[in-house]
Amino acid sequence: MKLDIVIPIYNERENLPELYHRVRIVCDRLGKTTCRVIYVDDGSRDDSMRIMQEQCKEDSRFSVIELSRNFGHQAAISAGLAHATGDAVVLMDGDLQDPPEVIPDLLRSWREGDQIVRAERRSRREKGLRRLGFDVFHKVFKWISDFPIPSQSGIFGLLDQRAVMELNRFTEKNRFFPGLRSWVGFRQGVVTYDREDRAAGEPKQSLRRLVKYALDAVFSFSYKPLKLMTVAGVIISTAGFALACVFVLRRLLGVEIAQTGFTTLVTLILFLGGVQLIAIGLLGEYLARIYDEVKQRPLYIINSRYGASDSSEKNAKTRTDAVSRDVSSHVSESQ
Ligand code: UDP
Ligand code: MG
Repeated sequence: MKLDIVIPIYNERENLPELYHRVRIVCDRLGKTTCRVIYVDDGSRDDSMRIMQEQCKEDSRFSVIELSRNFGHQAAISAGLAHATGDAVVLMDGDLQDPPEVIPDLLRSWREGDQIVRAERRSRREKGLRRLGFDVFHKVFKWISDFPIPSQSGIFGLLDQRAVMELNRFTEKNRFFPGLRSWVGFRQGVVTYDREDRAAGEPKQSLRRLVKYALDAVFSFSYKPLKLMTVAGVIISTAGFALACVFVLRRLLGVEIAQTGFTTLVTLILFLGGVQLIAIGLLGEYLARIYDEVKQRPLYIINSRYGASDSSEKNAKTRTDAVSRDVSSHVSESQ
C-alpha cells in the first residue's frame, strides 16, 4: 500500500529540518506501507527550496512541486492533491502544528474502513488576536453555514484515493478545504490530537489572508447573509409602514404633529444608508467570487518538479489534465 503525504511549504526554513527528521521516523515505522512525501513549495522566498532539494537528494521518498509564485495555502494543497497517487493521502501543515506522529492513528482509522479521516484538535496553543479570531470564526460559522461542517479541524487528515479523485474534480477558486472535505461525503472518521504552537518562525498566513479564508468559508457554504438582508429589509419596511399608519391616524384624529424631528430624520437616513451599503457590499462579495469562477484562471502554476518521479506521476498528470484546465503545459520536469 502506498501513502502520500502532502505538505505545503512557504518560507519554512526553520522548520524543514525537524519536519524532515520526524516525518522520516514515522515513515520508517510504517512497515509495509510505502511512504512518499510531496512538498509543495508555494513560492518561498527564503532558502526552503534549497533545503527541500537537499532532502530529496538524501531520501528518494521526498519530492517537491515548486509553484511559480505564492498562490496561498489552499492552492498549494490543491496542487499537492492533484499530484498524489497513493492509496491514501495525508494532508498536513509544514510548521509542525500538525504532528506527523498522528499519521499511524489516521492510517489505523482508514484501515478500519473510514474513507476520510479528520484530525480534530483536542486543544490548541495559539494565543492573542489569532486565537480570538479562530474561536469567533468557528462559533459564527457553525451558526451561519448551510451545511454541517465540523469546527475543530483544519486541513490535517487522511483522504482515501477515491475521495482525492473527487476533490480533484472541484474547479472552484475560493476554497475552504475543511468544508469541501465534509461536502464530498464518504465514510468519515475522526482522530483527536493536541495542536501545538508552530515550532519556529512567524505564521505564514497573514491575518488578512485568514480573514479572506474565513469569508471564503462563509460565502461558499452559506446563503444566510443574503437571507439576512431580505429579513432586515422586511423588518425595516414593516416598521416604516407602521410608523406611516400612526402618522396618518394622528392626522385624521386631529392630534397635533410636532414639526421637530431633525435629529431623528438624520439618524434614520444614515442608518438606512448604512444598511443599504452593507447589503450592496454583501452582494459584491458573492459577485466577486462568481467573477473569479467565470474567469476560469488556473488555481496555481507549476514552475518545476524535483525528485521522486515514478510511473504514477504520468497518471497524476493525465488525471489533472482531464479534471480541470490545469497548468500541466507549464510543468517543466527538472529531474
Ligand atoms: N503556507 C503556504 N502558503 C501560504 C501560507 C502558508 O503554503 O501562502 C503553508 C505554511 O508554510 C504552512 C501551512 O501552509 O506549512 C500553514 O501555514 P500557517 O502556519 O502560517 O497557517 P496557520 O497555522 O496560521 O493556519
Ligand atoms: Mg500553522
